[in-house]
Amino acid sequence: MNTEVLSINELKKVDPVFGQLSFDNHEQIVFCNDKDTGLKAIIGIHNTVLGPALGGTRMWNYANEWEALNDVLRLSRGMTFKSAVTGLNLGGGKAVIIGDAKTQKTPELMQKFGEYVHSLSGKYITAEDVGMETADMDLVREVTPYVTGISEAKGGAGNPSPITAYGVFMGMKAAVKHQFGSDNLKGKKVLVQGIGHVGETLVKYLTEEDAQVFITDINEDRLLEVSRKYGVTILTDADIYAADVDIYAPCALGATINDATINKIKATVIAGAANNQLAEENKHGLILKEKGIVYAPDFLINAGGIINVYAELEGYGKDEIIKKTENIYHTTLEILKQADAENSTTHQSALRVAQNRIAQRKLENKK
Ligand code: NAD
Repeated sequence: MNTEVLSINELKKVDPVFGQLSFDNHEQIVFCNDKDTGLKAIIGIHNTVLGPALGGTRMWNYANEWEALNDVLRLSRGMTFKSAVTGLNLGGGKAVIIGDAKTQKTPELMQKFGEYVHSLSGKYITAEDVGMETADMDLVREVTPYVTGISEAKGGAGNPSPITAYGVFMGMKAAVKHQFGSDNLKGKKVLVQGIGHVGETLVKYLTEEDAQVFITDINEDRLLEVSRKYGVTILTDADIYAADVDIYAPCALGATINDATINKIKATVIAGAANNQLAEENKHGLILKEKGIVYAPDFLINAGGIINVYAELEGYGKDEIIKKTENIYHTTLEILKQADAENSTTHQSALRVAQNRIAQRKLENKK
């Protein structure tokens, strides 16, 4: 149910948190409010069976609190399955800060947020997401050890985005192999939607392999910069979803595969970094399957970043990070084949692998 369009009387019939459509047995949801710094944040802890809930903090100018709550519920759930399918001993969590990262983010606000993270005693470990920089995590580190994605100068693994991009590239190659029989991207037309931290590095890998890259973004300065730097084409089509491309790489925000876009998509492979790309997992996953579009599940192929920050907790180095990220290629191929064998959507097959791992650990923990 979409609570945003309900009247107040109708709203009263819906439990505001546990009754949310995106609520999926989350273990804990923490609302953080600080008048002095203006901090309004929500921390969502979805599941901690495999380990502490690790996931980034997103700062976004949400239209209202419903939207922020919905986002943190969806994102934290996604983290549970991302770490589980990747084989990491981590649970799923995420945080959102309500506000404009460009104008409302201050060191005081970040440190206050860090204090809230600290109050959870390590049950939730934060990192960066949209609207956050490594420098922000360094500020959080001053008040709590429960933060990853801090700068290399401060003993961290640095910005996770380049590794995320590498993992997405690996997942894309696997999906291309599954669809076209070869993982060579030479000449393939790829649309990268969102050329931020991850999207730009993905463009770099794609151009190095002579793919024909098209870019789109709401930030025109970025478009010009990235287009010039890598010699790629800015997509000027009025409707980017109908673009005549082989591969669509959503690297901006989630839910871009929805009722309004899905029937226009001409790409036969979808592989990108954005979290929660399918507006409705089962419905839109099934439509993609029926249309013969190979969808590389987002939470599987964008795990490079979590592998990178996990290294900070486990103390492994760059070589191991690269090895684990390259493995995304093999896991993706296996899951795509499994989905065919099970006649299921790729999203459901990946989810099953993750859920089985959590169920198994739950049994072991009980022994
Ligand atoms: P970012 O903020 O650096 O970049 C996002 C880009 O998308 C920006 O350039 C922005 O202008 C653009 N954008 C926003 N709305 C858009 C729209 N409607 N149409 C076109 N472009 C739009 O973020 P990022 O770190 O590159 O992450 C990109 C996505 O990947 C996010 O969904 C994020 O949650 C996900 N992700 C990131 C990481 C990571 O390591 N950074 C890891 C896993 C998943």
